[in-house]
Amino acid sequence: MTEGDTEGATTEAGGSVTEERPTGPALAVFGHPDDAEISAGGTLARWVAEGRDVHLLVLTNGDRGASDPSWDRAELAATRRAETEAAASFLGLASTRILDIHDGELTNTPAVRVEIVREIRRIRPATVVTCDPTAWFFGNYFNHADHRTAGEAALDAVFPAAGNPLFFEELLRDESLEPWSVPEVWVGWTPEPNLHHDITGYIEKKVAALALHASQVADDQLGFFEKWLPSEAEEAGRKVGVQHAESFRVLRLG
Ligand SMILES: [Zn+2]
Repeated sequence: MTEGDTEGATTEAGGSVTEERPTGPALAVFGHPDDAEISAGGTLARWVAEGRDVHLLVLTNGDRGASDPSWDRAELAATRRAETEAAASFLGLASTRILDIHDGELTNTPAVRVEIVREIRRIRPATVVTCDPTAWFFGNYFNHADHRTAGEAALDAVFPAAGNPLFFEELLRDESLEPWSVPEVWVGWTPEPNLHHDITGYIEKKVAALALHASQVADDQLGFFEKWLPSEAEEAGRKVGVQHAESFRVLRLG
């Protein structure tokens, strides 16, 4: 499949997902500046190519995303903000917002949820993309707390808060942000996917967007991602007979 060919945009994997192709704005909510690209970069690129407005909300500033102790953390946060904006621009995202919460310290609190609800009510997304808060173990690896917390806070913001005017009443009162019920959530980084989304033609864009997070792909890390991301996408694609796919647990909230 080539870029721009929209046939088979969404491929069923478990029999429980039937919609062919979502439309309308989308909002991606992730914990770290490069999480969206790694887990859903091909999907976001595809949606942009299909004419959807795709927005990104990053919940931490990524100021511990390095192993070199000589990094000044404020400088690292500023570097990662610039990298995130460059990657978002390359992907054609409609807006990008990064909260100034320290990397490794994300908590699912009302102060975090109100920021997600604000974006949901502002954007009124047809689809929210986040990651699985229940995912602890992947083989010999276990999931970062910020990833789990980002998924938990995003889902709690989607329901019940975003659609209920009695949550964060100040958003309606002071900012005229009407409640919005999100119809669909795509949960990535999940051990329980029910959909493998065809990103054939977009894997190169996914890898190139990740490469713009230069602080995260120093040394041989870019080489690792250049091998691992296509190989992971090929494995997901094989399940539904396409070249490359990204896997999600899709929730239709009605
Ligand atoms: Zn991360």
